[in-house]
Amino acid sequence: MTTETTKTPLVRMSGVNKHFGSFQALSDINVDIPKGQVCIVVGPSGSGKSTLCRTINRLETIDDDGGYIEIDGKRLPEEGKALAALRADVGMVFQSFNLFAHKSVLENVTLGPTKVRGLSKKQAEKEAMEYLERVGVGEQARKLPAQLSGGQQQRVAIARALAMKPKVLLFDEPTSALDPEMVQEVLDVMVDLAAGGMTMVVVTHEMGFARKAGDRLLFMSEGAVIEDTTPEKFFKDPETSRAKDFLSKIL
Ligand code: ADP
Ligand code: MG
Repeated sequence: MTTETTKTPLVRMSGVNKHFGSFQALSDINVDIPKGQVCIVVGPSGSGKSTLCRTINRLETIDDDGGYIEIDGKRLPEEGKALAALRADVGMVFQSFNLFAHKSVLENVTLGPTKVRGLSKKQAEKEAMEYLERVGVGEQARKLPAQLSGGQQQRVAIARALAMKPKVLLFDEPTSALDPEMVQEVLDVMVDLAAGGMTMVVVTHEMGFARKAGDRLLFMSEGAVIEDTTPEKFFKDPETSRAKDFLSKIL
């Protein structure tokens, strides 16, 4: 590899703005995420965390004002096949799991790889089983999502994202819809992924996870990143009064 390519960030957001009508949800976002980094995103409700994630895999467009997003050095295309291919590089895990209710756990995981990556059913099932085992739900493969606990469903959602072999994984509050006793089993899987070198953007207020797995922390307020620091420093010694105020509410 040349120096040039090793320096290319996996995710580059440069001068990104996002309006919904006259409301500005993202304001001049400039964030480079290098390969292997685990970037935690925190901030009050409505500060733009979900919108930030959604623009990275183009579930939302950004303002057409010169700002841009690149994944591994490539601009996010507007639409079509190129977008589908690039989107496959960016996996996303949502708060609400978003599994297909009428498909088995195994089918949930094989669907993307057969449709988008062009794998045979047999190969997709083989790989899917490996991912399901890895997140500890291999024995649930033939069941429907509703037959699983919330924690198991979220681990299936992670396996499904992994099966696309993404370059970066986005997690938008992956444990906030879970019963408290199931939070840790999902965080454990995420810690494992982080330790394995996966590049991750994680919206979460789970401080233990942030400290253990996070390399970096972005604090958002009113659509802007107002602190770009480490989890360690943020929780111990936040700089802005908004961050102090935020922490006083969640701690
Ligand atoms: P967070 O995830 O930090 O709670 P969001 O990114 O979901 O915040 O939302 C940021 C702001 O953008 C909120 O004020 C929200 O109401 C607004 N917003 C998000 N999505 C839309 C949309 N599709 N249309 C209009 N406003 C939206
Ligand atoms: Mg959100």
